[in-house]
Amino acid sequence: MNKWKDILNGPEGGPKECPSCGQTKISTRVEDTVVTYGEKENAVEIPVHIPVHHCNVCELDFTDDFAETLKHAAVCRYLNVMTPDEISSIREMYGLSRAEFARLTRLGEASLARWENGNLIQNAAYDQYLFLLTFSENLERLRMREAQTECRNDLSYNNAKPRDPKEENFSALVEAGLFEEKSALAHRFVLRRAG
Ligand SMILES: [Zn+2]
Repeated sequence: MNKWKDILNGPEGGPKECPSCGQTKISTRVEDTVVTYGEKENAVEIPVHIPVHHCNVCELDFTDDFAETLKHAAVCRYLNVMTPDEISSIREMYGLSRAEFARLTRLGEASLARWENGNLIQNAAYDQYLFLLTFSENLERLRMREAQTECRNDLSYNNAKPRDPKEENFSALVEAGLFEEKSALAHRFVLRRAG
């Protein structure tokens, strides 16, 4: 077929030198291989194309991280879940660090890192949640919920540090022990209506 002509380079343009002899005469071909997923009688073989590099000096064939990324993505496609790149692109789309995204979504930061790095594949339920997070309105809802929670905590512990005059008035009311329930309810209502 034409796979020999279909030369692939990795995301960084492929390896610059041979890991064995250090020479730079490298050619790259695409090879069909399979990834085995699962164990024993449940094991499946998932076909995948990977770039295989060849050193024209010492004749070494080698693969790099890009091949591993492609194999992992093939398993994700087989399981019909998001790939690591797709997961990291969600929070990048919102300009959030992993810590910020974890705090807002309540996903474990360590789990998120494992999913994004391809060390672990998220289960189907988490994948559904991640899918919903690709829609900005759903992230907005989480932001509103977080604001609500913060507001409620401030009210219940009665320790809100006034940050602007409006909040100061609100806290003053709470400190005076007035309308605590009503204020909380009113605040929730306002937040919901904003969405
Ligand atoms: Zn070599």
